[in-house]
Formats: sequence, structure tokens, C-alpha cells
Amino acid sequence: MHKCILYKKLKDKKVQCLACSWYCKIDEGGTGICGVRQNKKGDLYLLVYGKAIAANLDNIEKKPLYHFLPGTKIFSIGTVGCNFRCKFCQNWDISQVAALIKREFKDKSKQTVMLGEITAQGQDLPPDKIVEYCREHNIPSIAYTYNEPAIFFEYAYDTAKLAHKYGIRNVFVSNGYESKEALEKFHPYLDAINIDLKGFTQEFYTKICGGKPEPVLENIKRTYEMGIWLEVTTLVIPGHNDSNKELTDIAEFIKSVSDEIPWHVTAFYPQYLMRDIPPTTQETLRRAYKIGKKVGLKYVYTGNIAGIKGENTHCPKCDEQLIERYGLVCEKCTIGMNGKCSSCGEKIPGVWK
Ligand code: SF4
Repeated sequence: MHKCILYKKLKDKKVQCLACSWYCKIDEGGTGICGVRQNKKGDLYLLVYGKAIAANLDNIEKKPLYHFLPGTKIFSIGTVGCNFRCKFCQNWDISQVAALIKREFKDKSKQTVMLGEITAQGQDLPPDKIVEYCREHNIPSIAYTYNEPAIFFEYAYDTAKLAHKYGIRNVFVSNGYESKEALEKFHPYLDAINIDLKGFTQEFYTKICGGKPEPVLENIKRTYEMGIWLEVTTLVIPGHNDSNKELTDIAEFIKSVSDEIPWHVTAFYPQYLMRDIPPTTQETLRRAYKIGKKVGLKYVYTGNIAGIKGENTHCPKCDEQLIERYGLVCEKCTIGMNGKCSSCGEKIPGVWK
């Protein structure tokens, strides 16, 4: 347990959490929507500090980030809890566990005991151990991923600050629901972010994700303006967000921020509370890809189905293939450290060294 830095005290020992766009007001003894930030005697504590429920060495392409140090490994951590309730979550067994406890146990004291037990389950992995591992193994970056990193802000922040001291970069894989305060504080240490833009309607965000689209749209603009390297991902779910209109709306919104932001359209597989929905077909993914290109995005990528058109990076000027990928593996990259097309010299946006 660790005292939070992103909160303010209110009357009667209440607190307001400032880590994400819910801005939960929490009574003494209670937790916010994420279930991992708890008010104890008028102060807010992070229950999962230093407790990684998942820690893996991934390809950076898995985040997905395609224009950020391609072909490198990234040390990836996540905790239990989340501030969304996505019915399709592929990590629901860790992200939704606090929500399930809150739903199952109405008695507050029982909830507290259960949350304590669950949050204690992660392996002890404090910031210094993460950074030490990366230094020993020459891992150039750390991802705060698997669940929404804003909810374990202080754990990520301390790790990121230490990582930067040794030249190790930091990446958020996010639902885009950070508070303005969280992004501004993390900004000096945040090198890249992939934000899920899960749909483009209130209904989709409310019914399927348990959130609202506005803060996400705002944060896409905000992170771009801050100069943090940004890529956007949409999981295309049959019958829910795969209409031509919705995909066009998403692509047009991204383009309104910048046509150089890579857009990943990825395939859904039946998960968690959406096991009755069929997987996304190759045709649908190709249609989403074409929509993105037609709208004018320079970099559109298909994901979660290997081997279909849309995994590689081409120069938008001369069409030279610059990065070849298969699945989540970078097979070949000809973009130099200068970030230019090896054929015509066009600048390709991203972080290449
Ligand atoms: S991180 Fe978000 S959901 Fe969790 S307590 Fe803070 S404001 Fe609420």
C-alpha cells in the first residue's frame, strides 16, 4: 500500500481521486470505480503499488506500437483493477476482479477484506527491480499495460522516473481515460502511448465499455499536442462498432488531429461477456483498412489476423515497403535512425532510435 499523490482532501474525511476522468469522490474506507485506490482515514492509498499481477517481455509490436523502436522488446507490467467495464476485455480476469468483488459482496467490510486479498496477489515488483531488470537485459522500454495505467499512477510514475534516469523509455497502453492532471504530471516521462478509441458513439461507450467517449477524444488531442508519440487502436467488433459510418467517424476524427497518427484496426475474438459474438472476419478488417486509407490516414494497420494486407509500413510518398511484419514480429526494417524512407527520403513520423 502506498499513499497516492493524485488526490485532494474533501470535507468529512472524503477524498477526490485525480488520476482518471471519473474523478471519484470516495468516502472513508471506500474505493473508487477501479477498486484499487482506497480512502483510509481521509487519505488515498494505492493498493497495488509494486504489485504486478502480470509482467512479461513482449515485442513492442504487441502493444501495438508500429512507429516506436520497431523490432525491440518491451518489459510490460499491469496490476489488477480497471476504470472501464469492457464486455470484451481479454484481460478481464485481472482487470475486472475488483469490480466483480464489489458486485458480489455488498457488505463494505467484506469488500475491503477481499480487495486486500486480491490486491496482495501480484508479485512484488517495485520500481527499482523493474528498472534493474531492464538495465541488466538491455531492454529499451517499459510498458504500463494489461489494465489501465492511470489507476496505478504512482507505481507507474515512480518506475518511469527511475527508468528515464537510465535512458529507458516509457509507454502507456491506455483506454485514454487519464485525467488532465495525470497526463500533465506524467508527461516528462511518457515517451509513447497507444490509446484505444473503442467506438464513436455514446451508446457503445456506455453499454459496452462502461465509460464515455469525450475524455478519450480529448486525450487523443491532448497527447498529440504534448508531443508524446501516439498511435490509436480500434478493436472492430461485429455488429457493434463495425458500420461504415462508425469506422469513418473514427478515422475522420483521427485525421482531424493528424493524418500521421497510425491507426490500428484489430480483430475481435469472443471473450468474457461477448462470447456469443463471432470473430471479426478478414473482409471486415480489410474494409476498415480501406476506410482509414480513403479518409486520408497515411498509416493504417490491421492486427490480430496475421498475413493479411495491412501489417507492413509503406512510404506514403513513394510506396516503398519500409517495415515488413508478420503477426507481431518485425521481420525487416529499412527506416534508418534518421527516420527517413530509404528510397525517397520522405520523413516517416515515429521514434526510430
Ligand atoms: S483512478 Fe479513476 S476510477 Fe480509480 S479511484 Fe481514481 S478517479 Fe476513480
